[in-house]
Amino acid sequence: MDFIDLKTQYQRIQKSVDERISNVLQHGQYIMGPEVQELEKKLADHVGVKHCLGVSSGTDALLVAMMAIDIKPGDEVITSPFSFFATVETMVLLGARPVFVDIDPATYNLDAKLLAAAITDKTKAIVPVSMYGQCSDMDIINQTAAQHNLPVIEDGAQSFGATYKGRQSCGLSTIGGTSFFPSKPLGCYGDGGAVFTDDDELARAMDEIRLHGQRGRYNHERIGINGRMDTIQATILTAKMEIFVDEVELRQQIAQRYTDELIKLGACYAGRDDANLKVPHINAENTSVYAQYTVQVTDREKTMKRLKEKGIPTAVHYPKSLHKQPAIASMGYSEINMPHSESAASSVFSLPMHPYLDANTQDTIIQALAVEI
Ligand SMILES: *Cc1c(COP(=O)(O)O)cnc(C)c1O
Repeated sequence: MDFIDLKTQYQRIQKSVDERISNVLQHGQYIMGPEVQELEKKLADHVGVKHCLGVSSGTDALLVAMMAIDIKPGDEVITSPFSFFATVETMVLLGARPVFVDIDPATYNLDAKLLAAAITDKTKAIVPVSMYGQCSDMDIINQTAAQHNLPVIEDGAQSFGATYKGRQSCGLSTIGGTSFFPSKPLGCYGDGGAVFTDDDELARAMDEIRLHGQRGRYNHERIGINGRMDTIQATILTAKMEIFVDEVELRQQIAQRYTDELIKLGACYAGRDDANLKVPHINAENTSVYAQYTVQVTDREKTMKRLKEKGIPTAVHYPKSLHKQPAIASMGYSEINMPHSESAASSVFSLPMHPYLDANTQDTIIQALAVEI
């Protein structure tokens, strides 16, 4: 049993992918070839924003976005403590200090109601994370940010294709960044990412930053990075976009089946306490792309071991709250408490989840979980 099955997907799009890669190999423009712009146009249309820029990873998407809004040493950036390390790593690289706001235990996302209290005169930006493929309460976050004139960068590395009040993730705030790491809902065959914005000036800044701060050949107006997306990765993503909407639907059907069956067996939704097994809670205004289908149990190690014995692979996203990561904790965070984030980090684990998970395999997983409820 696969945790994520990328081979079946490849078989479905093999002809298109192989032809496209071969095409790039023939014309030889491996860096910033025309396929990159073709993809950017497609992605911008999908998200419903003016500008999309392909970058080299989800991490660089965050870095480029934060450089464009001029995050500097001494600035504070407010974010969620429950995320992949890149969310804070990029701010710290720029010399900023992460300020954590605990999560809502129902969604695993930054609790928007707690945001206003964390804003100080050093706050420079807010970076909500759309965990597991579900967006935060972006209206409240955007309104709170607007009152203080702050930009909002959505870490949409797990949520490309998700919607909030009918609008697409990555197009909900000042800048949206995503990742095309192979196992994300839209993944390439290596590293890749993208940034999205409606702001012409920020788009221009990010375009320059991903190209060593260059404005015109060998004229460097600012400090940038080597943050481009490869032509081959871009063309693979264009091929995958042909089936992406269908794949998102399949993911949602499979997730709904997990949820319906486990609730029938007595599981409860995340954020509640009436069962040992908690399934994802998706807010009514959201659709999730289920980058992960993540559940919670009290004794995670025991449950994961029992599933493993039955041949069912699982994984933990993520086992440590960011303020407890050694590299961050040592920066003076050892005294802070993020009870909901810490509790999630000690009890979540993810089940096999991909568009090609068949009903029989899924039934095996559901049956194996029945005893854990
Ligand atoms: C995957 C991920 C990233 C980093 O993306 P890469 O493409 O691996 O650099 C950043 N933030 C979150 C929430 C992620 O899940």
